[in-house]
Amino acid sequence: MPDIVTKHGTIKTPALIPVVAASYGIWDKWIAGDYTAPWNLSQGVILSLYHILKYPYRERISKEGVHAVLGTDNPVYIDSGGFQYMKKGAELDPVEVLRYQERMGCDIGITFDFPILPDMEEQEKEARLERSIASANVMLKEKRTDMCLYGAIHGSNPREITDYMHQLDSGFSGYGIGSLVPRKNQLTHLVDMIYQVRQQTEKPVHCFGITGFPALFALSYLGVDTFDSWAYVVAAAFKEFVHPVTLSRVKNIKHVDRLPPCECAICQQYSHEDMIRADSDSEIILALHNLNIFLYEMEQIRESSRENNLESYIEKRSQTTNKRVRQAFKIAREKSSQPSF
Ligand SMILES: [Zn+2]
Repeated sequence: MPDIVTKHGTIKTPALIPVVAASYGIWDKWIAGDYTAPWNLSQGVILSLYHILKYPYRERISKEGVHAVLGTDNPVYIDSGGFQYMKKGAELDPVEVLRYQERMGCDIGITFDFPILPDMEEQEKEARLERSIASANVMLKEKRTDMCLYGAIHGSNPREITDYMHQLDSGFSGYGIGSLVPRKNQLTHLVDMIYQVRQQTEKPVHCFGITGFPALFALSYLGVDTFDSWAYVVAAAFKEFVHPVTLSRVKNIKHVDRLPPCECAICQQYSHEDMIRADSDSEIILALHNLNIFLYEMEQIRESSRENNLESYIEKRSQTTNKRVRQAFKIAREKSSQPSF
């Protein structure tokens, strides 16, 4: 799997790219440098334009650039926010999105899209797929800088994915697969969709919103280059601690006697008590532990993949993790051993 080359350096794949909201509370403390920020622990970060435009950082990011505001030299992705805008029933002009991404200086922008949902009427779904394709193509045509542009891909089955990709113009730096979140627990569906995309392109493939460990292992095996994760902060907001061995979430940590031992830098520095207070510092500390576990696991996946050893690593790792890791991997392995047509 080739590395992803950007203006701000290289991302070794597969990689987990934390989602950053730059919007309120805990993000202010991270931006102020009070704690190690997610963007300095990982190889890069991803922000949604939706979260930038809605909050006070909008002006500064437009003027100074996203790297200066976050204080990072690592690659930054800016997603168009299509999924959030869909939920709000709003939309943006694709070329306007492109200009924001260019002005904010991100390394990788993702085209504005119109995600689909499993219960949508056929006609509406088709119309939205067509609009996502048109939006991606116009953004590619209008691009004026050396920013990498990923085409957002959608479809509800492998055939739609193939049709969709055939209608995209050539020249995208990579692809981002969306519309997976509503069906994120259907492992066979995820595997089929990712497998289909991987068959069509050798360019980097980013998988939106899929952050459960079973999928991270299985989809890395199928060749996904990058994932984005919001789970580390969401879990922290619910006072959940990602178990370093089983990778399950230890829930309600206020009411457990002790946390499982963890060797991450945060757990060496802070205690159980520091993670259960009802303040944003406590949430940050817990989020950073969770992120450390995600990043550590991805590093193991990456290293074993580079040594051509991923299959045996997952087999071994799944003996101590929750059993869905093994189930997901089995589905992925069966899929990739089938003859393709
Ligand atoms: Zn830890």
